[in-house]
Amino acid sequence: MKILVQKFGGTSVANLERIELCAKRVISTLEKGYKSVVVSSAMAGETDSLINLARQVSSRPPEREMDMLLAIGEQRAIALFAMTLYKLGYPAVSLCGWQIPIITDNVHTKARIRKIGVRRLLNLIEEGYIPVVAGFQGITEDWEITTLGRGGSDTTAVALAAALKANCEINTDVSGVFTADPRIVPSARKISKISYEEMLELASLGAKVMQIRSVEFAAKYNVRIHVRSTFSEEEGTWIVPEEEVMEKVVVRGITVDTNESRITIVKVPDKPGIAAQIFKALGDAHIVVDMIVQNVSHEGYTDMSFTVNKTEADKAEEIVKKIAEDIGAKEVIRDDKVAKISIVGIGMKSAYGVAGRMFEILAKNGINIKAISTSEIKISCLIEEKYAELAVRALHEEFIEEIEEFETINDKNK
Ligand code: ADP
Ligand code: ASP
Ligand code: MG
Repeated sequence: MKILVQKFGGTSVANLERIELCAKRVISTLEKGYKSVVVSSAMAGETDSLINLARQVSSRPPEREMDMLLAIGEQRAIALFAMTLYKLGYPAVSLCGWQIPIITDNVHTKARIRKIGVRRLLNLIEEGYIPVVAGFQGITEDWEITTLGRGGSDTTAVALAAALKANCEINTDVSGVFTADPRIVPSARKISKISYEEMLELASLGAKVMQIRSVEFAAKYNVRIHVRSTFSEEEGTWIVPEEEVMEKVVVRGITVDTNESRITIVKVPDKPGIAAQIFKALGDAHIVVDMIVQNVSHEGYTDMSFTVNKTEADKAEEIVKKIAEDIGAKEVIRDDKVAKISIVGIGMKSAYGVAGRMFEILAKNGINIKAISTSEIKISCLIEEKYAELAVRALHEEFIEEIEEFETINDKNK
């Protein structure tokens, strides 16, 4: 039995007409001889409006109650999706996370999938039904509803594909993964094949087309993902193991992330154990810390900065302020107006001079760098938020558009 997991994002199921288009895509998959398992997100804007409702009640609502609320969005969408398939003559059954079950840990609002039951899905398929699964949600061993973090329906889809040993199709509002967000860089190009490793970096650095955890899952279980547009038949981008990516380039893509805040602790006593105290407390609160910078020490004191996701900045600031008081630091400053710009590519493993070129382009555009972090296949710079789009366009021109020109000239001279 050939199974394809087909995920539809929020804009794809934004209204009833669009849900019907999605249902027709599912039907055409069946006509090609596959069995389909559908995963749907909430209708566009619904998760945001539920979050806004909660914020009107409290600035920090209990996370368990957030999950209870947010799970509604997907439940509504899957029922409408299944009804639409029925109307078109294809029996379907909608299922929430707990009905599969998709079992997660108990970290509310960003739970991780631990186990998936496939028996019910396989039985439904054998009986001739199309399962329509709610993305983004699961259940703990103690029967508590959880959600998987923003964009989590991608992870539901990939995890189901892994459990069912199926391929995974991500249907979205762009025709694939591009060399930069096509909404910011109109000249961005669609990538035909990208490795898990590169996609993982792009996703974790702000390319929200795939949730990072979904790519981690895909890499771990070797799930082949096809990212494509819901609204066209065009071939999209395949996310596959590295050995299948023939074309090697230094920079595969450029990303921008404006979802981070920088927190600086000013005049921290420069002695062993202080950094451990700060970052252990953040870790205990399940806060993911990204770029960390510690300045050169002056007269026994230093400044320490780090970035966290904006949604966790209040919590992080509160924790750090308490520690700052305990250790006698001068003050804690928070800056929400920052952007992290990154260039990503496997070819960077063996290229030299890439960082220098990146810093030069930023300097030429009058953009100051507040922090830098690197890995084998990426370089990230933290800059002022107002320069984010300028920086992405300039870097795209330098690293991606330039290369195309180079390759064309080479071809002609062959
Ligand atoms: P969905 O609702 O289908 O899950 P998302 O909004 O989560 O869709 O993701 C798709 C969006 O990701 C696109 O509309 C695009 O603006 C954005 N995006 C950011 N970076 C990239 C990139 N490198 N390639 C493609 N899309 C990107
Ligand atoms: N509805 C959720 C969100 O908006 C999950 C998803 O769309 O993937 O983040
Ligand atoms: Mg998404």
